[in-house]
Amino acid sequence: MKERLLGIKSSFCAEVGRIGSIEELEKLRVKYLGRKSDVVDVLKSLGKLSVEERPAVGRLANEVRDFLVNSIEKKRYELDLKDIRTRIQREKIDVTEPGREFCLGNRHPINSVTRTMCDIFKSMGFSVVDGPEIETDYYNFEALNMPAHHPARDTQDTFYINDNLLLRTQTTCVQVRILEREAPPVRVVCPGKVFRSDDVDATHSPVFHQLEGLAVDRGVSFSDLKGTMEFFIKELYGEGTKVRFRPHHFSYTEPSAEMDIQCFECGGRGCRICKNEGYIELFGCGMVHPEVLRRCNIDPEVYSGFAFGIGIERAAMGKYRIDDMRLFYENDVRFLRQFV
Ligand SMILES: [Zn+2]
Repeated sequence: MKERLLGIKSSFCAEVGRIGSIEELEKLRVKYLGRKSDVVDVLKSLGKLSVEERPAVGRLANEVRDFLVNSIEKKRYELDLKDIRTRIQREKIDVTEPGREFCLGNRHPINSVTRTMCDIFKSMGFSVVDGPEIETDYYNFEALNMPAHHPARDTQDTFYINDNLLLRTQTTCVQVRILEREAPPVRVVCPGKVFRSDDVDATHSPVFHQLEGLAVDRGVSFSDLKGTMEFFIKELYGEGTKVRFRPHHFSYTEPSAEMDIQCFECGGRGCRICKNEGYIELFGCGMVHPEVLRRCNIDPEVYSGFAFGIGIERAAMGKYRIDDMRLFYENDVRFLRQFV
């Protein structure tokens, strides 16, 4: 019996040295101290021994059991400590390590110039409104004085969804929606996407941006339009920017004009960008056609107004001296990063 107990102790000592994890240690504990272990078996069979042998063997059996229990606890403590040290090592934060650089995005030049333009008009008392990109034939054409068979309705230029729905070809449709809803005085600008079935080149794109403006009140005159536009251009491009108005035709304004700014590249002497004109066409404008007002139940004898539509890409090209519109849509970060 004594030999058996000493054999258990020495085989335990050999095994415990090889234990490397808490799981293995638990298996070892079950093997040596579990209900079916040899030590328990010895303790159970003490009763079969003679009265002389029993105290000595009993003492030894208890000593061996206590030794096993203590050794396992000691090993558990060592393993826990090792585990904690490994975790500390793994989760260590090196406070001297330089921080990782992260990239901040910046506004797209189109968004940036749109905001600037809206801010200029807001400073003059205009509010910014929005309208649907999918429009009905009525708002895109008919209400703007372009009845069926009007040349501006050429299907070559318009993306139709069905007979009645289309992708708006200008932001001017928002004017009608506003005038139907609000009684004068009205002063709004509406930036947004417009769609034409154009091929992509340096100055054309099937999707581009416009900023539409409308002011309707009693006694609004063409000189109000001119003054507003000149103020806007000087705010956007600088005090010394020269502008000129040329007569033009739009179905929804009468009289109508186009406004040009002096070429930002050559200062009016003539160059490739302005096609030797010295001026660059920037937007169309005019006095709201009485028929458009009438359709919105506004009496053209009492109220008058002006409207304008600015190509935002063209305005941004002038502001940032960009000579190819495609750069706006290619998402090349080397280009976009310049507009921080
Ligand atoms: Zn020029």
